Amino acid sequence: MAQNSSRAIGRHHLHIPGPTPVPDRILRAIDTPIIDHRGPEFAKLAKRCLEGIKTIFKTANPVIIYTATGTGAWEAALANTMSPGDRIIMVETGQFGTLWKNMAKKLGLKPEFIHTDWRHPADPAAIEAKLKDDKNKEIKAVCVLHNETSTGTLSDIAAIRKAIDAAGHPALLFVDTISSLASTDYRHDEWGVDVTVGGSQKGLMLPPGMSFNAVSDKALAAAKTAKLPKSFWSWDDMITMNKSGFFPYTPATNMLQGLAVAIDMLHEEGLDNVFARHGRLAEATRRAVKHWGLDIICADPKAYSPTLTAVLTPDGVDADAFRALALEHFNIAYGASFGRFAGKMFRIGHLGDINDGDLLGGLAITEMALSLANVPHKKGGVQVAMDYLTSAHGGAARRAAE
Ligand SMILES: *Cc1c(COP(=O)(O)O)cnc(C)c1O
Repeated sequence: MAQNSSRAIGRHHLHIPGPTPVPDRILRAIDTPIIDHRGPEFAKLAKRCLEGIKTIFKTANPVIIYTATGTGAWEAALANTMSPGDRIIMVETGQFGTLWKNMAKKLGLKPEFIHTDWRHPADPAAIEAKLKDDKNKEIKAVCVLHNETSTGTLSDIAAIRKAIDAAGHPALLFVDTISSLASTDYRHDEWGVDVTVGGSQKGLMLPPGMSFNAVSDKALAAAKTAKLPKSFWSWDDMITMNKSGFFPYTPATNMLQGLAVAIDMLHEEGLDNVFARHGRLAEATRRAVKHWGLDIICADPKAYSPTLTAVLTPDGVDADAFRALALEHFNIAYGASFGRFAGKMFRIGHLGDINDGDLLGGLAITEMALSLANVPHKKGGVQVAMDYLTSAHGGAARRAAE
């Protein structure tokens, strides 16, 4: 280590956009003796999780919980509802949009990819146009990412729903919320989403290894006739057994212990406060980045991600070398660069169990690392972030005093 020590001192600064730091209270909830997953204590825990998670997705319908990473829940969404050769629309918002599209191909579907420059969100008008072109109504689903984690763009799901309705098209709407759920406003039922895919390790503040499908009645009906093979992912057995608080196979018992507490913590803070906090931290980050004179990958301010900021490094600066240097000297991890922006960006995660001071630590380290790496920038971005955060609190303090 640069500090000439074999021991890392203090906490690792985990500023990747997931997995995110797990709060001590959740770690303690997970660190409990294993219980019988066919016993009464487990049924109580499972029912608490299965009911509680609905309040996070904002749905009255079942939410299926998988022992799998988010990628598994992607596959579950498609495998339960689609048949071989089905045409679907997917959007190339970035690396994750591309990976989901590649998966659809491997599963035997025919994804039609709407391309972007990786700097813009999914365009509702482009989706509407594609659906209007589909005179025989063969397209079975529209799949979009709420938050594209590789670039930091947030798509407007309510507007995409409206676009599908405006085209008068029966396609299902599938939304990946893996890096937005429990960090920014999301409404499965109200926005008419048919399958919402979620994961444990980002806004939900849990370790990786658990993922979700929230479903609509229309998706459940589609599952009755869908012909893609599925077994582990089958919604049917899950929904049937979940009714009594059990699972068809051994669930991740201790992850469920953590999930129950994560849901409690989100409601103790209040979901709207959680969303406001993420909005504030994201704005502070962007103000620092702009002051440094660096570009944000997302080129549409209306689509700025509330959970991460992807920063373009100036020409001639190897972003991966910058990340390595910052890790070596300051024990910080940023999100890696992908695809079109390989070697040209680093991503600052600001989601999950993170407060103003945590963020400022990350921004101060970033400003030091920019200097150390001789990346041209204007000093004082951290001060700008501090001023913004102070004023955001000042408003609240004044209101409290009145
Ligand atoms: C993290 C992430 C994934 C992948 O999830 P895994 O848990 O790594 O399988 C998919 N989509 C989005 C938007 C993500 O942020």
